[in-house]
Order: sequence, then structure tokens, then C-alpha cells
Amino acid sequence: LAERLQNTIKKMTGKGKVSEQDVKEMAREVRLALLEADVNFKVVKDFIKKIKERAVGQEVMNSLTPGQQIIKIVKEELTDLMGGEQSKIAVSERPPTVIMMVGLQGAGKTTTTGKLANLLRKKHNRKPLLVAADVYRPAAINQLETIGKQLNLPVFSKGTDANPVDIANDAIAHAKEEHYDYVLIDTAGRLHTDENLMTELREIKENVDPAEILLVVDSMTGQDAVNVAESFDEQLAVSGVILTKLDNDNRGGAALSIRAVTQKPIKYAGMGEKLDELEVFHPERMASRILGMGDVLSLIEKAQENVDEKKAKELEEKMRSATFTFDDFLDQMEQVKSMGPLEDLLGMIPGANKMKGLKNAQIDEKQLVYVEAIIHSMTKKEREDPSIMNASRKKRIAKGAGRPVSEVNRLLKQFEEMKKMMKQMSGMQKGKKGKKKKG
Ligand code: GDP
Ligand code: MG
Repeated sequence: LAERLQNTIKKMTGKGKVSEQDVKEMAREVRLALLEADVNFKVVKDFIKKIKERAVGQEVMNSLTPGQQIIKIVKEELTDLMGGEQSKIAVSERPPTVIMMVGLQGAGKTTTTGKLANLLRKKHNRKPLLVAADVYRPAAINQLETIGKQLNLPVFSKGTDANPVDIANDAIAHAKEEHYDYVLIDTAGRLHTDENLMTELREIKENVDPAEILLVVDSMTGQDAVNVAESFDEQLAVSGVILTKLDNDNRGGAALSIRAVTQKPIKYAGMGEKLDELEVFHPERMASRILGMGDVLSLIEKAQENVDEKKAKELEEKMRSATFTFDDFLDQMEQVKSMGPLEDLLGMIPGANKMKGLKNAQIDEKQLVYVEAIIHSMTKKEREDPSIMNASRKKRIAKGAGRPVSEVNRLLKQFEEMKKMMKQMSGMQKGKKGKKKKG
């Protein structure tokens, strides 16, 4: 989806004047892009109608930069399509807040139950209890228990012989006793929606009166996901949707249609298999991502979460005075690493997804580990002043790190080049400031 839209947008950006014909052409392109992305055709129709209306209206024709104005409109409407505002998770007045996780088999329910509990604990400081109510496969209970162990979170289960309704009731009683404030019930799924499953889920719902029924759907299934959402919603009146596997979805059809079709907010997005890869869903950011503008806000947020501001200032100072050492280098690597996998970060940089090859290039995180090992093998003196490095020192370092000497050489060279670049950069900044004063 992104590529086609981006091309259209590139054409529009520079336009000083927009004719009705231009708008028509742009609308056709956007329409094709959305249909290709497997967006529901009714949703597309409404969307295009809105874009056209707004694009030939006052706000564009009177604008100095109509091309950009239209892009703004597309982005706003995309955002709107996905719900506009970010949607929050419910909190019951009297704990525990009960959340039922429902969805087809393989959608990601069990994984997402763990991820959500983890997020509630980490971000909201909550005490969640996981409940294994998928009794049809012994593996399902084991899976949730394994996830619980990994996250160090308790799992309530009664084996495969118990009735899911009893399990849910008992779990809630247990949660009250032990002062858990969230109860997350992982329910059974089927390959297709069927009446037996729906009856069971309805029974659980009637018994536990959940604050949220979150429907977990696989974004990669496109329109099927939307159909599944419609039928679950009809039967259970879900309160929100969690889209999983967005990390593998390069079309965006489900993300763009599901809200418009079901009127239910997308609350979270699964961004990977790991248990910390669940994000609050931000419609505006998703729209930006789709338009290829990069998810700058998320990137900044991540950076703020992880980078110690004082350290950043110190680093800047060091760059300016070119007293940057290998220890600083290590520090900096630590900070970058704490922001998450490099591939994720790259995806958030505007334009990075357009660079051919970059998307598929495996960024070798192992390489970073090697670099660290090499620096760790250096003495304090060597880290501060690499110019003292000679053949025997290099050999010793290589041996200590378990890497070839050539790699040590390469790192030293890269480090020198980096220092040179820093010097130039700080020189340039000084130059700029000087000029400003004169002018
Ligand atoms: P359930 O049958 O609905 O309980 O689904 P599971 O939780 O067992 O998940 C099915 C598969 O999808 C597992 O292999 C998960 O690791 C994978 N999965 C779940 N969420 C995500 C996600 O956001 N991204 C990716 N890449 N994989 C996911
Ligand atoms: Mg499961």
C-alpha cells in the first residue's frame, strides 16, 4: 500500500496549482492503492468521496501549497478511518477489571494475552492474572503457562477437564482474594467461527460480565479479518480489537477497514512474536507509517524512554571537543541497544523504508556484540587513547575478544573516521554560528 500511495503523493507534493483533473487522477490512484491493499470496497468508496469533496473545496484551492494540502487531507482521513483518537483500556471501578480475549485459532490470542498483561504491569503498574480457559487443547494451557513463566506472571488454570465458565468464575474469585486488579481470560478459538464456540463465549460473558471483550485478529488475513470481526461482534458485542502480526502486514487492509466496518476501536497492535512487542494503537501514527512519512513520534518517544538526557548532553560536549573515547562509544551503543532492535528503529525513520534493500537487509546485531567484546578487551588506557595501539596490543585484544585481528583493525579505523567526522561536524556548527553573528 505504502509504495503506491507514496508515488501518488510524490506527484502531488510539488504542485503549485491543482486542477479538478489532478484531483480526479489522484483519487483514482488512491482508490487503486487501497483496493490493492485489500481494503473493504465500501470503505474505499466512502473514503474517496470524502477526499474528493475536501480536495476541491476551499481549504485546498485557496492554499499556497495545494499539493501538500491534499496530502494532509489524505492523512487526516486515513487517521479518521482508523478511529482518529487513541483508544484506552477499561478500568473497572471495583477491581478486578475482567478482560476476555476472543478470536480465531492462530490469531494470536494466547500470545497477546501475555503481552497485554505484561504491558499493563509495565506501563500501568497493574497486577494482572492470566487465566487459561482454552480447555480443548492441553497445549493451549501449557502455552499460557510457559508465557506466564517467561514474564514471571501467575497463570490460573484447572486443567482440561474443567468447564471454561467455572474456570473463569473461580479465577475471578481467586483474583479478588489475592488483590489482582486485572483478570485476562484466554479463551478457545476455532479455525472458523462456529455456533458451539459462540455459545461457550456468550456463557462466559454472561457469567463474568467483562469490562472488555477484546477481539484478537490477524492483520495479515485482510478482508477475512474484517469478516471475522463482524461476526464476533454480532454474537458477542466486542469492545475493541487487537490487530496482530502488523509487523508482517505490508498491505494494511485490515487495519484500514476494521474500524470503519465494525465501529469498534483498534486498541493495540502486535508488532512481533516477542512478549514486549505489543503497542498501543495510534491511528495517526499508523496513517503516517502508511504514507511513508515515518513514525517520527514513536521514535522520539522511544528515544525519550531510553536515552538518558544528561548523558546525551555530555556526549554532545565530547563530540564538540573531540575527546570522544571508546568508553563513550560503548555507552552510546548501550543506549541505542536499549531502544530495541535496529530494524524497528529504521522503520520509523522517514524515508528509510524507501531505501531499496534496507528493508530486507538483515541488520546484523551480532556484529554489535563483537564490537562490544573487542572494546571490553581493551585496557582503560587503550580506550582513552587508541593511538598507543601497536601490533602486540592488537593481538592481545583480538585474542581476548575471540575475534580476528583484522576485525580489531577495522574497528579502530572506523573509530578514527568517526572522530574525524565529529570534528568536522562540530566545526561546521561553529562556522554557522559565526556567520550568523556577522550577518
Ligand atoms: P491463538 O491460537 O489465537 O492463541 O494464537 P497464538 O497466541 O498461539 O499465536 C499464534 C502464532 O502467532 C504464534 O506463533 C505467535 O508467536 C504468533 N504471533 C502472535 N502475535 C504476533 C505478532 O504480533 N507478530 C508476529 N510476527 N507473530 C505473532
Ligand atoms: Mg491460544
